[in-house]
Amino acid sequence: MKKGIISLLPISILIGLSGCNSDSDSVDYGKKATNYLVSIADEIEGIGAREASTPEEEAMGNWLYDQLTGFGYDVEVQPFTYQKDEQLQSSKNYIIEKKGASEKTIILAAHYDSTGSDHGSLGATDNGAGVAAAVAIAESLMHESLPYTVRILFPGAEENGLNGSLHYVRQALDNNQLGNVIAMINYDTVGGGDYVYVHAAHTDYGEYQSTCEKLGLSESDYNADTHIRDAMLKASIDVKGEDGKYTVHPEFPGYPEGETGSWSDHAGFACAGIPIAYVEATNFNINGKWGYDGYSQTTNSTAWDCYDAENKTACDRGSESKWGKIWHTEFDRLDKLEELFPGRVEQQLSDNVNIVLQLLTSDSYIYEK
Ligand SMILES: [Zn+2]
Repeated sequence: MKKGIISLLPISILIGLSGCNSDSDSVDYGKKATNYLVSIADEIEGIGAREASTPEEEAMGNWLYDQLTGFGYDVEVQPFTYQKDEQLQSSKNYIIEKKGASEKTIILAAHYDSTGSDHGSLGATDNGAGVAAAVAIAESLMHESLPYTVRILFPGAEENGLNGSLHYVRQALDNNQLGNVIAMINYDTVGGGDYVYVHAAHTDYGEYQSTCEKLGLSESDYNADTHIRDAMLKASIDVKGEDGKYTVHPEFPGYPEGETGSWSDHAGFACAGIPIAYVEATNFNINGKWGYDGYSQTTNSTAWDCYDAENKTACDRGSESKWGKIWHTEFDRLDKLEELFPGRVEQQLSDNVNIVLQLLTSDSYIYEK
């Protein structure tokens, strides 16, 4: 890959100041994301499992730093501490920014820690896929002129309490760094599950209240606006057509159409008044262990003790142990995913990269509300 880039250099020098983007246009960043996913999640070629606040998480952070500086970014490293089980733990956030024509800023976030290593998870989809896609997007943006400023945040220690993103929001509020932020996109598990959804925050503030209170925020600060979700949906139609667009889940008990809970890094941003879109690959149609909450990601029978296709739930809800979950399990590794869903993760990853690049490089999707 590096050889290829070097061989393109004389061409880009020849093109000079013509403003032509032909060298970057010929690169398929969707495909590059798959290479990054191997570097992140593969047990032998990559980093593999990276539980919060372990040396493996730190190695993952160092890999991110090297990639992003290699693309030419100034990388802000933001160390933080948090309490877990009465112990003080530490981790780091990594932040880059690409200036656009406007100071108005869109944040894209993808947590880089993983969990479930005790069950065999290597964090391929949760959240190697989100990180790989965000890294490929960061690389591509270096070659683009943007209408809006784009800030990409890689939070640490998400899996044990959204620690990195909550730290980021807390310090950004203290330092007036959110005033220009008009949208936040959360990439968490953007591949693997049966459908790729885009959600808005929940219209019921109660779903987010405990997270917001951790930030000292209240209902009057909260934002459940749907227009960033709808902008993402529109971009997905323009890139993939009606058949390949993001899915907006229909209404289910506890979840109005296209709305989701506070269990990932978008939560702190919604609390701080920023409209969010959350992309995840799962299956909201399944009546899972706790109902229709999207925690069961697939109907693939391998991921169930016994799946009752007619009623879209476990054959025996009392004894089911697997519940169609990929994240945090033995199935969240590249070899198992390829066995269960040949070609799926690669395709979902590529689509996500192309859809978000479409949205970030055009001024026709996101507007200030
Ligand atoms: Zn996650």
